[in-house]
Amino acid sequence: MATVFVEQLTLPASIGVWPEEHQRKQSVSLDVELTVDDAELAAAADSQRLRDTLDYRRIAELAERVVGLRHYPLVETLAHELARATLSLPGVQRSRVRLRKLHCVPQAEAAGVEVCCDADRLDLPCTPVDPATVSATPPAIAIVGGGVAGLSAALWCWRLGHPALLIDPAPTLGGQLWLATDPLPDLPAMPPLSGPVLARRLLRQFAAHGGRWLRGQLEGVDQAAAPPRGATLALKLAADSGRLTLACPALIVATGVRRRRLAAPGAAELADRGVLEALPPDPSTLEDQPIAIVGGGDSACEAALTLLPYASQVTLVHRGAELSARAPLQQAIRAQPRIIVLTGAEVARLHGTTHLEAVELGDGRRLATPWLLVAIGWQPNSEALPAAWLDGGGFVRCDAELRVSRDTRVFVAGDLRKPAAASVAAAAGDGACAAKSAVRQVERDARA
Ligand SMILES: Cc1cc2nc3c(=O)[nH]c(=O)nc-3n(C[C@H](O)[C@H](O)[C@H](O)COP(=O)(O)OP(=O)(O)OC[C@H]3O[C@@H](n4cnc5c(N)ncnc54)[C@H](O)[C@@H]3O)c2cc1C
Repeated sequence: MATVFVEQLTLPASIGVWPEEHQRKQSVSLDVELTVDDAELAAAADSQRLRDTLDYRRIAELAERVVGLRHYPLVETLAHELARATLSLPGVQRSRVRLRKLHCVPQAEAAGVEVCCDADRLDLPCTPVDPATVSATPPAIAIVGGGVAGLSAALWCWRLGHPALLIDPAPTLGGQLWLATDPLPDLPAMPPLSGPVLARRLLRQFAAHGGRWLRGQLEGVDQAAAPPRGATLALKLAADSGRLTLACPALIVATGVRRRRLAAPGAAELADRGVLEALPPDPSTLEDQPIAIVGGGDSACEAALTLLPYASQVTLVHRGAELSARAPLQQAIRAQPRIIVLTGAEVARLHGTTHLEAVELGDGRRLATPWLLVAIGWQPNSEALPAAWLDGGGFVRCDAELRVSRDTRVFVAGDLRKPAAASVAAAAGDGACAAKSAVRQVERDARA
């Protein structure tokens, strides 16, 4: 990380709690230190263009604007507001503001505070819009699903001059990113960042371009058989305030995937009572007891290796003839004598009353275990979509422009279309592509 700073910027401020302090301005001296990605400054050093770096005159102008905005009773308030405001400058990750109120204490030159604000710890900036305002100003493009794919599509629609409405029922946008709590090692040109850090950055970006989010769940789509120009799709939504129908000319669906549930008898009854859908937040709760993991892909094998230090034994139960995880993971599994791999095995039934006691396999074998982690893959969130759009697994089919079919104004992005490599990068790229296709269609319709 590198820093860009402005020191001893002296400005007149309306500041203080005493009545006389409302009448006259006082001098404050500011030191502002901003932490930015070193690679960005190095790139500016190479290009030698001012616009590629953080121009310190912009920092000074922003400080002047914030200081002049209103009366501040406390130096703490002004310092915090300025620190937060500077986080909106491009690439700033952390802001440190030292504010000195000059000659405010007899015999002292100055008194004041120093505050530090971290972009990744700020409150989430997005709040949903009122459904009534959406009905009053319907969007040209609606995006259903606010994960990476949907947020990337929203960014691109805005860049292309057609700000879209994002629809998602979750308490906050970001989708699966909130589950990916370990640093993601494969983000192109970025240091490993955790999913929640990425989600916060995406949300700030969404808020910064005035993104609109309607908190609601898609329940169905009606479309005219041969769409004429104009509103051709009717989205049936369940929002907090009740059900509503939204007409829109073009739609991007990016509703992603969710964990597949185990259908074996006993699984639903013992959910969270020994049957786990995700890694336990504190693996020491396993208390050195055995754990079974159903699944044989990357997630199952990664979980086996993660949980091994906390369990007496890990048994992988996989119905295929061979594990399907990537080769290095399989090697790591084979190198661990305390990981037992059962291939060609299916979970038939779970036993237990107040807690899981045993896993029964299809061939009648019983594994005595108080823990079972289910890692059997992901299923698409496509129940609300017309069957004609889906393949046999419920994923959405599309052409190279991510259009769902020739006579629709519907486009798909992200995990929902089962990309070859479901990832943050693929979802972001899909969002861009779907947005471009949707905008091109809307503009073509407007000219027709
Ligand atoms: C534990 C974990 C680790 C991962 N590790 C990596 C990694 O290391 N590197 C990497 O590149 N990728 C990783 N990924 C994958 C990556 O996070 C996903 O591929 C990507 O986030 C998918 O984004 P998406 O927008 O397509 O879908 P999602 O993130 O699934 O978003 C879908 C959104 O649609 C909303 N939605 C669902 N149904 C409806 C409906 N009916 N109406 C309205 N909205 C709806 C959901 O609330 C959600 O917000 C990981 C994922 C997980 C879970």
